[in-house]
Amino acid sequence: MSIDTATITEAGRLLAAGQLVAFPTETVYGLGGDATNDHAVAAIFAAKGRPTFNPLIVHVARVEQAEDLVVVDPRARRLMARFWPGPLTLVLPRRPGSPVSLLASAGLDTIAIRLPDHAIARALIEAAGRPLAAPSANRSGGVSPTRAEHVDADLAALVLDGGPCRVGVESTVLDLSGDHPALLRPGGIPLEELERELGPLLRTENPTAPKSPGQLESHYAPGLPVRLDAEEPHPGEALLGFGPGAAELNLSPSGDVAEAAANLFAMLRALDRPGFSGIAVRPIPEHGLGLAINDRLRRAAAPRLQPPKHQPPKHQP
Ligand code: AMP
Ligand code: MG
Repeated sequence: MSIDTATITEAGRLLAAGQLVAFPTETVYGLGGDATNDHAVAAIFAAKGRPTFNPLIVHVARVEQAEDLVVVDPRARRLMARFWPGPLTLVLPRRPGSPVSLLASAGLDTIAIRLPDHAIARALIEAAGRPLAAPSANRSGGVSPTRAEHVDADLAALVLDGGPCRVGVESTVLDLSGDHPALLRPGGIPLEELERELGPLLRTENPTAPKSPGQLESHYAPGLPVRLDAEEPHPGEALLGFGPGAAELNLSPSGDVAEAAANLFAMLRALDRPGFSGIAVRPIPEHGLGLAINDRLRRAAAPRLQPPKHQPPKHQP
């Protein structure tokens, strides 16, 4: 579907009527629905097969729209001014009378909110005239979509095609609901940049004390097993490279973590095919977007309850 004003207007009308529309953001493609409509939000959970205890991120088109939904204190306002629009999600107290569906926030008294840095996403939110809940547009637990074709392969949804996503990993999730800011998920805004602004952050990615349930289980997983920090592939494995050296595909031959993030999910999908026994991944440094990449890869490699969780796609892109 090509994107013109009439298309955005029509997609906004569908959203306002409670339908779901998948759309591009700078991070990954989202499956959007009216965040104030319980039925639309329930349909998102159902389409993804996502457990309803895992809350959704609410997307807005303007800072003022956020203020109708959550309590924005001076610290949050400063971060919004600095990082929005962009891949930073803030967890803030639900505002009394907030119209956001309780199902979207899994009944918590906080709401995760973000203003995406993508013209189509913002135009669509404006056209819908309401905030949009929009988790990644894939089946829960699988590899996130960074191109419209990935959405088509995973879900039967109307998709606005905005080409490949610029950042390629999900937003950084920062919890501002407590006294001390806490990193809930590394993502598109590097931790170093946030810490320059806020000082050292609490890290609540602790396996023994998850703050939000989506944090820890096997996730982002292709059908094939994933092996990390590989120097060489074992027989039958596809090697996903980083930096110089022979590899089936290379996240970034020059060793650039931002380029690697943008390629990560598309390359995992491309290698997830019969003929390989697994995907071996070269070591990725932990700095900048490397933290988010390694977070996703560790979950992709985590033990699965019923391996393999997903069948590899029948056709490669
Ligand atoms: P996804 O929609 O798959 O990108 O995931 C959204 C992430 O934000 C998940 O890790 C959720 O658990 C987290 N999240 C969403 N809302 C909240 C909230 N109110 N409090 C804490 N974490 C949240
Ligand atoms: Mg997701």
